[in-house]
Amino acid sequence: MKHNSGLAPTLAALLLVLPGSTLLADWIGDARPMMGTEVSVYLWSDDAEAGQQALDDVFAEAARIDRLMSTYKDDSEISKINHLAATSPVMVGEELFQLVRRSLDISVLTLGAFDITYDSVGQHYDFRSRQRPDPDTVEAERENIDYRFVRLDNAAGSVAFLKQGVRINLGGIAKGYVVERGVDILRHRGIGNAIVTAGGDSRLLGDRRGRPWMVGIRDPRKDGGEVAISVPLADEAISTSGDYERYFDEDGVRYHHIIKPSTGIPASGVHSATVFGPDAVITDALSTSVFVLGVDEGLRLIGTLPDYESIVIDAEGHVYYSDGLQRPAADNVQ
Ligand code: ADP
Ligand code: MG
Repeated sequence: MKHNSGLAPTLAALLLVLPGSTLLADWIGDARPMMGTEVSVYLWSDDAEAGQQALDDVFAEAARIDRLMSTYKDDSEISKINHLAATSPVMVGEELFQLVRRSLDISVLTLGAFDITYDSVGQHYDFRSRQRPDPDTVEAERENIDYRFVRLDNAAGSVAFLKQGVRINLGGIAKGYVVERGVDILRHRGIGNAIVTAGGDSRLLGDRRGRPWMVGIRDPRKDGGEVAISVPLADEAISTSGDYERYFDEDGVRYHHIIKPSTGIPASGVHSATVFGPDAVITDALSTSVFVLGVDEGLRLIGTLPDYESIVIDAEGHVYYSDGLQRPAADNVQ
C-alpha cells in the first residue's frame, strides 16, 4: 500500500512531462502509391511513435520486394531472369527462388490457369495507352506460355527457361507476398491488430479490437468503389481479382490484365473473383486462378482446399459462393 500511494503521483508527473501523443494508444494508418497500385497499412499501436516506425518498416519492405520483383525495373532480379534464363541458368536469391517455386506449384494445382509465363503475351499490353497485341502476336507468343518451360535447380538456386521467348511476371502473386511480409514485420514489432493491403490483396492481423474486420468486395461495375458484399474476417488473408483494375474498353470488348494462358487473351465470364484463407500468397494466386477458371471450375477447385473459400461475381452480376460459405438471401449485386 505504502509503495502504491507513493508511485501514483510520480506516474502522473511523468505523464505531464512527456508529450501526450507518444503515449496515446490509437489506430494509425497511411497509404502510398507503390507497385502500380496503392499499398496501405492500418494498425493499432499503444505508442504512436512505435506505430509510425512500424508503418514505415512495412512500406520499406514493400519497396524492397518491388525492387526485386518488378519487370518494370531493368535491374531487378526478375528482369535479369527474363533477359538471360533462356541462354543459361540464372542464379537468384532464395526469396525470389521460393516465390517462383510456389508459383509453379500453383500452376500444377490449377492445371495451368495460373501461369507466370503469361507475360510473353502480357508484355504486349499497355493499359494506360490502350495498347494490345495484334492477333498474330498473340498466336506467336502463346507458344511461349507454359510454366513447364521454367526449370528450377534447387541445389544451384538457379532458374532456367527451356525456350527462347519465355518471360515470367509475378504480378499475380507478389502483392500477396508483400502483405504477408508486412504482417510478419508488424507481428514481430508486437502489433496485434492491423490490416495491410496492396491493391486487391489484404492480410488481417488479429481483429478490430473485439470486432471482426469488415472487408468490402467491390461492385465490379460501379466506378465509385461501391461495396457489393462485406465479409467479416479476423486473422485471415483476402484477395480480389477484377477486370476493372487495369483495362480499356474497345468496340464493346474489355481488354484487361488477367490473361487466360490457354488462349493468350483476357479471361472472360467473370467480373471479380475473391478468395480468402490463411495465406495471402495463396489467396492472391488463387483469386487470379479462379478468375481464369470461371465460376464452375473455379469453385470446384476451391472446394478441394479446406482452408480457402471464394466469392465470384460473374458477367451478369450474379454472385456465387464456395460450398463452405453460407449463402446470404440476396444473390445479385445489380
Ligand atoms: P491485382 O491485385 O493487381 O488486381 P491480380 O491478383 O488480379 O492482381 O492478378 C493480376 C495480375 O496477375 C496481372 O496484372 C498480371 O501481372 C498477372 N497475371 C495475369 N494473368 C495471369 C495468369 N494467368 N497467371 C498468373 N499471373 C497472371
Ligand atoms: Mg491475384
